[in-house]
Amino acid sequence: MSEHSRTAVASAPPAASLGGASTASADKRLPDVASAGFADRLYRLDGGHSLANDESVWTPGENVRRSIEFSSTCWLIKRANQWLLWDTGVPQSALNDPKGWSTLPKLIVYHLDKALTDQLAALGLKPADITYVAISHTHGDHIGNVRLFPSSTVLMQRAEYEWIGTPDGPNANVNELKALARTLLGTPKHLTLLDGDTDVFGDGSVTLISTPGHTPGSQSLLVHLKHAGFIILSGDVVHLEENFEKDTVPSLNTDKAASIASMDRVRRMMATYKAKLFINHDKAETDTLKLLPEFYD
Ligand SMILES: [Zn+2]
Repeated sequence: MSEHSRTAVASAPPAASLGGASTASADKRLPDVASAGFADRLYRLDGGHSLANDESVWTPGENVRRSIEFSSTCWLIKRANQWLLWDTGVPQSALNDPKGWSTLPKLIVYHLDKALTDQLAALGLKPADITYVAISHTHGDHIGNVRLFPSSTVLMQRAEYEWIGTPDGPNANVNELKALARTLLGTPKHLTLLDGDTDVFGDGSVTLISTPGHTPGSQSLLVHLKHAGFIILSGDVVHLEENFEKDTVPSLNTDKAASIASMDRVRRMMATYKAKLFINHDKAETDTLKLLPEFYD
C-alpha cells in the first residue's frame, strides 16, 4: 500500500477513483504464515478506562444494571522507520477531569490519566512522526484524538466512513455515536479509505482485517513480530473474553449476524496464525499486558 497511502483523499470518492483496481485488489490479501514480514515493536498505550452502569448492553439479557469497568487501549507499531498508531482513545482534553468524558452519558463515563501525546513523547515521538493512524471504527473512545495527527494518513474502511454520514436509524444510542463520530473525525487531510483486508506495508507484517458487525466498517489488526509471533488487536469485534467464548453480541452493534461471523473469522485466524488475541476493552486481560515503555517484539 505504500504508494497509495500517500494519496490524500479529502472526502469519500467513488471506489474507482481511489487508485482503482490496484488499491482495491492487490492490497486485499492476508499474509502467508511462513513468509510474512515482521514489524519491529508493538507498544501498548493507555487510552483511559471507563465505567458503565449496565453491562447488559454488552451482554443482552444478562448482567442487567450491573456496573462494569472497561479498559481503553491504543497500540503503536514500529516498522523500520515508520510508525503506525492503532486507535487514539478518548479525547485528551478529558485528562484528569474528575467528571470524565462520555460517548453516551446515560450509560458510560471515561477517565483518562495519561495523555496520548505524552506517551508518544516518552519515546521521543511527535504526532508528525506517526505515518499512519489506523482506526478500528468511529466510536468516540477510538477516534477521540485523530485531529491531533493532521499530517498522518488516516486508514479506515470505506464502509465506516460512509456509514457515519447516513440518516439516523431506530437505535438512539447508535445515532448519538454517529453524530459524535462526525464531530471527532472531521475531515482528515490525509484519508485513505479501504475496501476490506489491507496489507499496510506490503510485506504481511501489519494487516488490517475486515471484521464488521459492531459497526459496518469495523476492523481488527494482525501484526507479526519476530519473537511474539502473530498478534490480533481486536478493535471492538469483541469486548470481553467471556463474550468471545459465547458469541455474545452487544445491543449497540449494527449487525448481529455479521458480528458473529467476524468473531468466527477471528477465531479461524487465531488458529491459522497461532495468534494471540488482545481484547481492547477487557480490563482484566489488558492489565496483564506490557505497557509502554515496555514492548512486544
Ligand atoms: Zn470501544
